[in-house]
Amino acid sequence: MAATLIKGAEVAAQIREELKKEVDELKAKHNITPGLVTILVGEDPGSVSYVTAKQKTAHELGFHSIQDNQDASISEETLLSLLDKYNKDPQIHGILVQLPLPKHIDTNKVLYAINPNKDVDAFHPVNVGRILIGQYAFLPCTPAGCQELIVRATGDPKGKEVVVVGRSNIVGKPMVAIMIQKLPGANATVTCVHTGTPKDKIIEHCKRADILIVAAGVPKYVQADWVKEGAVVIDVGVNRIGMTESGKAKLAGDVDFDTVKEKASFITPVPGGVGPMTITMLMKNTVMAAKLSAGLIQI
Ligand code: NAP
Repeated sequence: MAATLIKGAEVAAQIREELKKEVDELKAKHNITPGLVTILVGEDPGSVSYVTAKQKTAHELGFHSIQDNQDASISEETLLSLLDKYNKDPQIHGILVQLPLPKHIDTNKVLYAINPNKDVDAFHPVNVGRILIGQYAFLPCTPAGCQELIVRATGDPKGKEVVVVGRSNIVGKPMVAIMIQKLPGANATVTCVHTGTPKDKIIEHCKRADILIVAAGVPKYVQADWVKEGAVVIDVGVNRIGMTESGKAKLAGDVDFDTVKEKASFITPVPGGVGPMTITMLMKNTVMAAKLSAGLIQI
């Protein structure tokens, strides 16, 4: 029987509705308006469209939102002093620097200059450490989106065998850190496979998974015979595999969707699965950062 599709856009819309209520309440009861600045350096068309979408959503939710566009020639020093300004601005709770940055700028130096309590991408080493020890205010957006999809569509993963394919710093590793926590929405038994895992072992581990989360960046990598009957499959991959007749990029996930959907109980499509969750999780993080700054939550 074909799997139930986990529709990211629908889950994201539901979360945004919840966030809107939370924002209205923060304004009415505490006089706090969540503030988000997105800093764009240069005019890369992909980055422009990402920050535009982020600002549009922030606006819809009633945030105080600033789009700060900087010329591609900005010096590292000027960018760092800009971050210092936003770090000190009490109206700004979340700072996002859109990546990639021009080559003359040290990306890590910039990301690490963001106040960890305003680091709504959760890439700062302080936040990575907080996540690992399970004491955090917010999580990196893509793996947090995966967790929300799993919990909302299929229930609490407590006690389930979770296998994560990939160990990048932005998806695989934080996904592992999130799912192993002794917390609601996690508490799973987690295995991570990667290029250091022999292929036959990768397949063996995948076959054991109750929940299989794939973030390898290899189009249609996971095959139906690697998937346990009834497994939940979360496909993070976004790979361009050509062009459609209308000239749009043709996308494929990291899972062979057409065959795997016949084995899985739930599956995320690509596009329309994990993708739509990312911006919404950024908004959630900004609300959490606003609450953190007001002392309404503690880490
Ligand atoms: P990445 O930085 O390239 O990391 C890929 C990871 O997969 C690495 O850890 C790599 O292992 C592992 N890997 C690569 N080939 C493998 C193979 N054949 N078998 C097992 N493991 C393999 O990619 P990423 O940033 O994590 O992204 C992964 C995918 O998710 C990409 O398609 C990306 O476009 C997509 N993505 C989507 C969203 C979204 O919002 N939907 C957000 C972020 C990323 P090593 O560490 O050994 O190299």
